[in-house]
Amino acid sequence: MFGLMQDYPLTIDRILEHARHVHSRQRVMTLLPDGSLHTTTYGEMYPRIKRLAKALVKLGVEPGDRVATFAWNTYQHFELYYAIPGAGAVCHTLNLRLFPDQLAYIVNHADDKIVFIDGTLIPLYERFADQTPNVQHYVLMNAPKGVETKLPNVLYYEDLIAGSDDDFEWRSTDERMAAGMCYTSGTTGDPKGALYSHRSTVLHAMAANQMSVLGIGERDVILPVVPMFHVMAWGIPYAAPMAGAALAMPGPHLKPEPLANLIESQRVTIAAGVPTIWNALYQEVKAHARDISCVRSLVVGGSAMPRSLTAAYESELGVNVLHAWGMTEMSPIGTVNILRAEQESLDQEARWDIKASQGIPVFGVEVRIVDEEGRELPWDGQSMGELQVRGPWIIKQYFKRDVAPESFTADGWFRTGDVVTLDPDGLMTIKDRTKDLVKSGGEWISTVELESAIMGHPDVLEAAVIAVPDARWSERPLAAVVARPGSNLTEQAIMEYLSTRVAKFWLPDRVLFVTEIPKTSVGKFDKKTLRRRYAEGELS
Ligand code: ADP
Repeated sequence: MFGLMQDYPLTIDRILEHARHVHSRQRVMTLLPDGSLHTTTYGEMYPRIKRLAKALVKLGVEPGDRVATFAWNTYQHFELYYAIPGAGAVCHTLNLRLFPDQLAYIVNHADDKIVFIDGTLIPLYERFADQTPNVQHYVLMNAPKGVETKLPNVLYYEDLIAGSDDDFEWRSTDERMAAGMCYTSGTTGDPKGALYSHRSTVLHAMAANQMSVLGIGERDVILPVVPMFHVMAWGIPYAAPMAGAALAMPGPHLKPEPLANLIESQRVTIAAGVPTIWNALYQEVKAHARDISCVRSLVVGGSAMPRSLTAAYESELGVNVLHAWGMTEMSPIGTVNILRAEQESLDQEARWDIKASQGIPVFGVEVRIVDEEGRELPWDGQSMGELQVRGPWIIKQYFKRDVAPESFTADGWFRTGDVVTLDPDGLMTIKDRTKDLVKSGGEWISTVELESAIMGHPDVLEAAVIAVPDARWSERPLAAVVARPGSNLTEQAIMEYLSTRVAKFWLPDRVLFVTEIPKTSVGKFDKKTLRRRYAEGELS
């Protein structure tokens, strides 16, 4: 016998309808390119989004078509997050930090029909526009009429809205329809497309709002520094209006100073981004005595949050750090580090030890670890293996069937490529990625832990560890380190510091001082580039 409750479709338009009725006066602020603050509300955006969706249909957009965005975090980008899926199409966010050739590959692979572009990004797209001949229209946002551009078939965002009306029925009729798409940043190979459905997006947003996940509420002002082209800004543009929270969008202003201004002036309560951003913001706050204590939760993920940075935020700035782990293929939230009640009474040092881990699985994300033969390993906090996941917002296949089928197991789990331990209470700790591990004399060395240990040294700004070939041990760790300007950091000082913190065989064979660690398009340490530079003798 089946239950007798309604089959209510979980479509993205439901989030907007809810916000429009219940949270219509809640604000969405945007730092525009000229530095001024634009303010609108969910209620004001609602008819604009309907007009936009109708305009897309008039332009010939059919259900399932891909419509791309090439844009910063702005209210217009938010409007597109609803208008495109509301028109039955797929909102494909392009990562503007990728190389032109990669971007052209992605636009063509996705077969994008229309591209919405921020005015400041026109020159960036022009660099590869001749390689994307199938795009039918370019719609310019935040750009003056008649702006000079080589892009063909140009339209203007506000013209589209003005020339349309809001008498429009949402075309998102089935929760299984595709709604959004994001390509991986290609850290470990060609970018691959993850195609989110309405259902996966709505369920993910509901999960994000839970108290034991991001805990977003109607009194929050959320600053997504994580770009809207990086896994849908971790789902925040869908979670916030669902919970009735305000948004503070940084636009193109991602430097620490304007971010600190935005936090102070808008009394931001939740800010989300990768560790690189928070490292830079910390330097700014300390150097200029800024007060960001209004932030009650600093959400950090994308790569491991160094323990020392968590300690600095919590003890010096009064900002609670919420360490999370996820992937493009997981919409992205997988685990969140929420301290359990009994851990609240631990001393600070013990709490920071726990917070260096990636947290416990969110309801909806099932996890298991397996060894190289595919055998399941115990949750004992010791056994290291590849993490596999399944759940309603986790990918079952990449966009286009032939892309990386080896990422999925025969019994329907997704292989994350992360090497982790799970403790008996489900606390997950990332040790490495399968492709970054250092195997020395038959033993694994965790580059993630070694990096975190080195970054604990007060004179170290950043550190990345890679494996280099070694005749005796097969591989040995090498550390690339950025020293704090003005310090007299030496290799010996780092070794001494590490000697009481990691096993002896973990000590890097060499420490190379560099001016900067190369970063990927989403701000992670780019070890592929580091390894190549080392192999080509550029680092010595
Ligand atoms: P890409 O795979 O191209 O780097 P993603 O942004 O999807 O793009 O990255 C997902 C990966 O980032 C995870 O598999 C994991 O290796 C890493 N990652 C994400 N969050 C964390 C975290 N909190 N700590 C350590 N690694 C993380």
